[in-house]
Amino acid sequence: MNVDLNPEQEQLRDAVRALGRRYGHDYFVAKAKSGGHTTELWSEAGRLGYLGVNIPTEYGGGGGGITDLAIVCEELAAAGCPLLLLVVSPAIAATVINRHGTEAQRKRYLPGLADGSQKIVFAITEPEAGSNFHRLGTVARRDGDDWLVSGRKCYISGVDEADHVLVVARTEDSSTGKLKPALFVVPTDAPGLTRSKLDMEIVSPENQFLLYLDDVRLPADALVGESVDAGLPALFAGLNPERITVAAMGAGTGRYAIERASSYTATRTVWGGRSIGSHQGVSHPLAHAAVQVELARLMIYKAATLYDAGRDLEAGVAGNMAKYAAGEAAALAVDTAVQALGGAGMTTEYGVATLLGAVRAGRIAPVSREMILNFVAQHVLGQEKSY
Ligand SMILES: Cc1cc2nc3c(=O)[nH]c(=O)nc-3n(C[C@H](O)[C@H](O)[C@H](O)COP(=O)(O)OP(=O)(O)OC[C@H]3O[C@@H](n4cnc5c(N)ncnc54)[C@H](O)[C@@H]3O)c2cc1C
Repeated sequence: MNVDLNPEQEQLRDAVRALGRRYGHDYFVAKAKSGGHTTELWSEAGRLGYLGVNIPTEYGGGGGGITDLAIVCEELAAAGCPLLLLVVSPAIAATVINRHGTEAQRKRYLPGLADGSQKIVFAITEPEAGSNFHRLGTVARRDGDDWLVSGRKCYISGVDEADHVLVVARTEDSSTGKLKPALFVVPTDAPGLTRSKLDMEIVSPENQFLLYLDDVRLPADALVGESVDAGLPALFAGLNPERITVAAMGAGTGRYAIERASSYTATRTVWGGRSIGSHQGVSHPLAHAAVQVELARLMIYKAATLYDAGRDLEAGVAGNMAKYAAGEAAALAVDTAVQALGGAGMTTEYGVATLLGAVRAGRIAPVSREMILNFVAQHVLGQEKSY
């Protein structure tokens, strides 16, 4: 088993780390608190080629894989800039379009995703469906050559920053009459598409929205792929990259929190000359969190390696496990870091409590810990499906 990245990936890690550190957590928080976006960081990352690392070179990308994108997600988060839109736009949308879009769609969308000049966000969750995507109520029906899409979506990240949203809707199968999922690339300014911002208890420059689609008229080529049959495989194509990159973001956030806390506890003294970190009641919880984060990282890079080798089924198991492990490890690391910092842990200045909401959300979204345990129980342990 090789535990080393290749030299290009090591260089990528160093370069992204340096970029992330030039911006840092203070920049991220200032943007969040002023209602701004991380536009400068996003644009610079795009110009340097980091947003398109997983996109083929013929469409302006770096020609690498999800391992490379996981590195970008992890290192920016480790610098205090966990960007959820990396998971949505280059990981989910670019993968779906690259693997299941038409050639015209690849040419139209991938170059902009690769250089960061365009973002495509992703809308599957609905108020009445939640974890159960079989209950999706958003429907696309034919009107001549066009499609008319109606429904509601919730918690959709980054709609205010994006040019398009990849909407999962159900279409009627002409042979069976059954509704089956398909994906549509919908311009965020399409007539009939409206949004309202959700108030979330997460310190982040990236916002979540309710989306209302009221007979949104789309041309035939808004459908991802040549026909509605591309829908289900396209939907599944986005899942592994989503789980792997969101896990990488969690691991990076965990590393960031542990680093902040351990540099503080190594120098803070309140009992004479010894640092508070010399007390095992302080250092052991941090060490325990560091072990959990490192274990999650092993699973993340295993999942990414399997995915890049085309071993999708094995990557599915490893990616789910990685997402579970990283979600738990990140929440533990941030909470432990807050405790180790004492009162300073709750200040904005020390930049740790600002992550509490985000890591808590990471145990729910994009797939909850319970749904991952359901997956593992069913597909790894052979248990009967419980729902
Ligand atoms: C910050 C954030 C960003 C998000 N961004 C996006 C986005 O960009 N696009 C998008 O489409 N969605 C997005 N989501 C939505 C996210 O994917 C959902 O919140 C998540 O899938 C859970 O769905 P739900 O909230 O409806 O919870 P529910 O499905 O209502 O579940 C509630 C609770 O019940 C548990 N539960 C449900 N069913 C079962 C079961 N069978 N067995 C055991 N436990 C179960 C769940 O695990 C959860 O703990 C985002 C959410 C958040 C918080």
